[in-house]
Amino acid sequence: MAKAQRQVQEKLKQVDIVFEIVDARVPESSRNPVLDQIIQQKPRLLILNKADLADPHKTAAWISTYEKAGQPAIKLDAQHKQRLPQIEKAARSILADKIERQKQRGIRNPLIKAMCIGIPNVGKSTVLNRLLSKNIAKTGNKPGVTKNQQWLKASDHLALLDTPGILWPKFDDPEVGTKLALTGAIAENIYHPDDVAVFALDFFRAQYTAAITKAYQLTAQDLTLPAPELLLALTKKWGLKDDYDRGSDRLIQEIRKGRLGRYTLDLPPKEADEA
Ligand code: GDP
Repeated sequence: MAKAQRQVQEKLKQVDIVFEIVDARVPESSRNPVLDQIIQQKPRLLILNKADLADPHKTAAWISTYEKAGQPAIKLDAQHKQRLPQIEKAARSILADKIERQKQRGIRNPLIKAMCIGIPNVGKSTVLNRLLSKNIAKTGNKPGVTKNQQWLKASDHLALLDTPGILWPKFDDPEVGTKLALTGAIAENIYHPDDVAVFALDFFRAQYTAAITKAYQLTAQDLTLPAPELLLALTKKWGLKDDYDRGSDRLIQEIRKGRLGRYTLDLPPKEADEA
């Protein structure tokens, strides 16, 4: 970790702005606070990617929360959009003073140097590919930054490091780990599927009651069952007898594929207080 952190830190020195990419379904749980320590005063644009999978109201609430805290943030669907002009636009706005100063010094076309950074699976490579309009090799998921990288131009005004900075997922808090597992951000072998499934049932029953009721045709009584019992009932319904693990896996896969619709697992601060 220390080496990965040093590598990212080294690259940070070379950029004007950092594009911190997070998963809009877990905008806080998919961050690693180590970035706050190493980034220091460097300007940052927070990109809530996979917004197509997230609850649009909660995404709007999160963006407003970040903006109020002085952190510029945008939502993004990098998967389905061929071009992402909003990123350069936001970067130019964040760096407006610097760009103006450069122009006054006679630099006619100031170039913004940026790097994408984030934990695995938030869509860093997808964003980079779209910005650079070409297929760059997948960088793998090892924290740090690949050696021998180079600057690539996304436009006349924006250059990007050709490989993203990879932070490790941070989940000292078990609930953060569970949320990352549910979205597919962390590997299958480091969580118990039944813990994730039980969390998911409780969460969706509380937050997305109509969606889960409809998808699994739950009765009023089902809705009052303790989550482990409800999981067992669904497992039986799916013909998996009492194979809790397979039932859990099925539920997790279905939620990931959007069977229960769009959802956000990190509640924006006001809603979290109310919950
Ligand atoms: P990285 O590990 O951060 O570089 O993530 P990738 O770019 O490899 O993306 C991880 C997975 O998420 C891939 O299957 C992508 O196709 C998918 N993905 C990336 N961006 C989006 C998005 O905006 N929406 C959706 N639905 N999927 C996305």
